[in-house]
Amino acid sequence: MPTTSWHERAAALRIDARAFIDGERVDARSGARFDCLSPVDGRKLAEVARCDGLDVDAAVTSARAAFEDRRWAGKAPGERKKILVRFADLMLEHRDELALLETLDMGKPIRYSRSVDVQLAQNCIRWYGEAIDKVYDQVAPTAEDSLALITREPVGVVAAIIPWNYPMLMAAWKIGPALATGNSLVLKPSEKAPLSSLRLAELALEAGVPPGVFNVLPGFGQEAGRALGLHMDVDCIAFTGSTRTGKDIVQMAGQSNLKRAWTELGGKSANIVCADCPDLDAAVSAAIGSIYFNQGESCNAPSRLFVEASIKDAFLDKALTMIPDFAPGDPLDEATVMGAIVDPIQMKTVLGYIESGKADGARLLAGGKAARVESGGLYIEPTLFDGVDASMRIAREEIFGPVLSVLSFTELDEAVRQANATPYGLAAAVWTSDIGKAIRTSRELRAGTVHVNQYDNDDITVPFGGYKQSGNGRDKSLHAFDKYTELKTTWIQVS
Ligand code: NAD
Repeated sequence: MPTTSWHERAAALRIDARAFIDGERVDARSGARFDCLSPVDGRKLAEVARCDGLDVDAAVTSARAAFEDRRWAGKAPGERKKILVRFADLMLEHRDELALLETLDMGKPIRYSRSVDVQLAQNCIRWYGEAIDKVYDQVAPTAEDSLALITREPVGVVAAIIPWNYPMLMAAWKIGPALATGNSLVLKPSEKAPLSSLRLAELALEAGVPPGVFNVLPGFGQEAGRALGLHMDVDCIAFTGSTRTGKDIVQMAGQSNLKRAWTELGGKSANIVCADCPDLDAAVSAAIGSIYFNQGESCNAPSRLFVEASIKDAFLDKALTMIPDFAPGDPLDEATVMGAIVDPIQMKTVLGYIESGKADGARLLAGGKAARVESGGLYIEPTLFDGVDASMRIAREEIFGPVLSVLSFTELDEAVRQANATPYGLAAAVWTSDIGKAIRTSRELRAGTVHVNQYDNDDITVPFGGYKQSGNGRDKSLHAFDKYTELKTTWIQVS
């Protein structure tokens, strides 16, 4: 931990926000830049290269050249492993700097940037590096006069487009499996939080990832993002972001070269607490902790809470005593557990949803307002609505802020029906002491992840992704290799 305060370190930080192409820091070809403002206090952090189609062409050309001359794909998996493990080591060596960039850029508390985001991101890179020399190809059981090899090959040039809510971790979820399998990568971070991705590219180069293999283009979705989506020489696009943009990405892939398009999209996850829940305190603590973690800006946040009517009052009493602990604070103070909202647009969206909940007749039991206005930053109180009806916007749409909607039920079947009555299918939970009920309910819930008597457990070994309009791919785990590899069959005549 640093001896100087995080504020002093933030003031001393020199941020280079130019693009990273072919192993070098460069300005956008057009010379354009945009201001990166911190939601912590409104301070200008950097002028960021505003990349567009010209920069996309340059980065894709560099990535293609790196792929074709096999400077990375041609290395033995054990060699790529050494370099990726070194990259993860460097992330740990630069842990404080990376955590600070993340906190200043998107507002999350420094305690979590440091202990969760950097930690999980470096672990992800390390894990894929460690895994890649332990994956074997196959020989098919064909007739004796022939041999058929089933091998995995890198897809080629991968474009990754990521959101701002866990910038470093979402980058790592793409970088780890894409680079481990030998691809070249062009990463476009969100215009709202590009800083950590740019620094990661420098660390990867320092670790030995050859120039051209990992490029980063900061810029806007309609400019750099769209140019990547439509590019004829990108083989695969790995997208994480909103369902709305995900639909555009799939269309762009179809409109151009039918590049493989993987989407990891939004959510409106349901958390169902039955009266026979084994530990009410644990259920309350998980429900509250998970919705307010990361200021509610988590794709899998359990934003719809279904509580069985007979325990709802007891549940809410406990919840309301806990909520003040989540009051937003200075993200650079290590005691703070809830930080700033990423930007004024998101702030307005979340406050708009709070107004719609009130107008639709939901009961506001906690929060509901902007906070810490004097700081110059963007903060919202942890907010809880009771008496929410499934037809209200706050029960149907992804808010992506610290707002919990509480609905009650008397029949579990009805709660499950409502839980599934959404275009999303990212995560869900059920709390019950009855193992049969838990298994039946988890089978019925249409979501990529279902938690039983817990929420938010996370491990790199398990896949993460959505059903329905929450996306079509899986990040994390060995399953992510499927996104970044082609299967090749090679027939060999033996006799
Ligand atoms: P967004 O869709 O607005 O933007 C995501 C990225 O796409 C950004 O880099 C943006 O610049 C780019 N983009 C925007 N429009 C584009 C276009 N027309 N063409 C190409 N690129 C474009 O999403 P956001 O606000 O950054 O992120 C929040 C969303 O991400 C939420 O819906 C959240 O649930 C989702 N998310 C999902 C997961 C998951 O694993 N399923 C993880 C984190 C976040």
